[in-house]
Amino acid sequence: MSLCVGVLGATGSVGQQALDVCRERGYRVDFISIGKNVRLGENIVREFSPRAVAVADDAAAKELKLLIKDTETEVLSGDSGITRGIEESSAESFVNSITGMAGLRPTLAIIERGKRLCLANKESLVIAGDIVMSEARHRGTEIIPVDSEHSAIFQSLKSGRASEIKRILLTASGGPFFGKTRSELSGISAADTLKHPTWKMGKRISVDSATLINKGFEIIEAAHLFGVGASKIEVVVHRESILHSAVEYVDNTVIAEMSVPDMRSCIQYALDYPERRTACVPELDLFSVGSLSFSRPDTETFPLLSLAKRAMEDGGAMGAVLNAADEVAVGAHLSGALDFLGISDTVCEVYERMRDARELHTLEEILSIDRECRTLTESLIRKRSKK
Ligand code: MG
Repeated sequence: MSLCVGVLGATGSVGQQALDVCRERGYRVDFISIGKNVRLGENIVREFSPRAVAVADDAAAKELKLLIKDTETEVLSGDSGITRGIEESSAESFVNSITGMAGLRPTLAIIERGKRLCLANKESLVIAGDIVMSEARHRGTEIIPVDSEHSAIFQSLKSGRASEIKRILLTASGGPFFGKTRSELSGISAADTLKHPTWKMGKRISVDSATLINKGFEIIEAAHLFGVGASKIEVVVHRESILHSAVEYVDNTVIAEMSVPDMRSCIQYALDYPERRTACVPELDLFSVGSLSFSRPDTETFPLLSLAKRAMEDGGAMGAVLNAADEVAVGAHLSGALDFLGISDTVCEVYERMRDARELHTLEEILSIDRECRTLTESLIRKRSKK
């Protein structure tokens, strides 16, 4: 079987691994979207000969156009370029691995076309989970998660019915600062934050893993994907990242998925589902793993984990508030304007100030609260740095 695939965010970490799977499987790549890394974009175009490539902005699109003028690939640009690329693509499945808010519109465009959505952009669900899921139901679009935990839950859910779920056990590596106290974390800069123990990832998600807000986002993601209340999702710290999450059923049986920590495992599953095909990833050697450990998360040092649970319960546009504040705060941390603890302090403050967003539900309202929230976060960070 040869599949035709679209890869959004193709130059990013997950996008590159999605292309690895396509290369290994011999899948045709019909459409890609990239940010500003036109050199890598050129390499991908030359290797996979997609029908079209969408580039984040006009200047980068112009640059890429020159680089690949001897090829047949059409160059599109901006948000409208991505949407057009999706609409005109003959891909049967799309991997959406765009990072952040920018992934939401492409998610909705793929759903509208009724194509399989292999979703790595968790922000789509954090920001607008109600809208995304109801559109997907309405159009009959399959969403297969490409997040290791959610892929594990998806697979574990094959063992029982939704009505038989007792709890979801969402595993967390604990990030680079596991076991540290708040005082030990004062003045920490981005260089330390970016050292993740097990997963190789992009910068935003590495910082989000260190603050544990990534795990919080994953609670929201799981609640939407699997229709389970946030109170039924328990975070379990599991340092080895071998057991990728589990489902506990009413009979107290726990079904989990284990594999080596490699995103290609989730990507191949999402593309091949419901089939299983020979692996693009190494096999799991339990003898060399030896033992697995489990512990409770420290929600005092990492308050954003509980805040995300609250955002799910508060509902409305609070997920969008959380995401926008975090995107801006992480950017400030990476540029050196905010230390590590400053991220959670800032996000918590923005959340308290924006609580009226609980009442907002439409896409337009969510997009406008996103902008408002970014402005507020930027001004709070400027004030902090003047102190
Ligand atoms: Mg994950």
